[in-house]
Amino acid sequence: CPGKPNVAVFDTTFGMGMDEKSYLYAIPHEYYEKYGIRRYGFHGTSHKFVSAEAIRFGGLDPETAKVIVCHLGNGASVSASIGGKCVDTSMGLTPLEGLIMGTRSGDVDPAVLQFIMNKEGLDINQMLDILNKKSGVYGMTNGISSDFRDIENAKADGNHLAEVALDAFIYRVTKYIGAYAAAMNGVDAIIFTAGVGENSASQRLDIASGLEFMGVKMDAEANNVRGKEAVISAADSKVKVLLIPTNEELMIAMDTASIVKG
Ligand code: AMP
Repeated sequence: CPGKPNVAVFDTTFGMGMDEKSYLYAIPHEYYEKYGIRRYGFHGTSHKFVSAEAIRFGGLDPETAKVIVCHLGNGASVSASIGGKCVDTSMGLTPLEGLIMGTRSGDVDPAVLQFIMNKEGLDINQMLDILNKKSGVYGMTNGISSDFRDIENAKADGNHLAEVALDAFIYRVTKYIGAYAAAMNGVDAIIFTAGVGENSASQRLDIASGLEFMGVKMDAEANNVRGKEAVISAADSKVKVLLIPTNEELMIAMDTASIVKG
């Protein structure tokens, strides 16, 4: 509108906090110089909101808190931050990198692309379309669904591929949490958010069970909760585990208000 301030909030802003060692790909540096090819991270609005809210709700030190946020929905990503500043995040130049998602593959060996493209006569756009839209738990189950509830139901009905897809999803989330705890030399709190993270008590338990080595201990009863802020770890857990519903709209409104007010 004429005379009204215009504000754009970028979903990659949070990822701009990363150091060079996290955001640079190990490819010729000229591609960064010429084209800005680097890891940017997505879901930044969610990661920023949820990590700040975790510090507030969890009573953590706002300057030093080491926080890992698991944004697990149809799109899925993990972030590590210290005092709210992003240290690392699992999505890259595009949202394709990182976790297994509803229809996205997440991390794959790039040579897989070359092999499939040669065998099937695909061009790179068709191949990326497959990695973005036909992969993830949808692709792993031969197309049962990209919806995690359908995959959980298929697993309950004894479908082997659904079981493997869920196992692989959980396994990769657990690996990223372990890696990010090492990246920060510790972690104070692990947060679950977004569709799966806020609603699936069983997936939260399965992920946490792989983190017992670092003192994560869940409270099964407290974990029996959906869509509201809650501490879901046991009182003697070395790492706090929290459920924090994401609110990207509120974060955008808060950022807009602070920019407009100056
Ligand atoms: P989002 O992209 O954050 O809206 O999350 C959507 C995903 O959350 C879908 O794959 C849903 O199947 C999943 N989801 C929602 N509720 C549940 C639930 N109770 N158990 C497992 N997954 C769920």
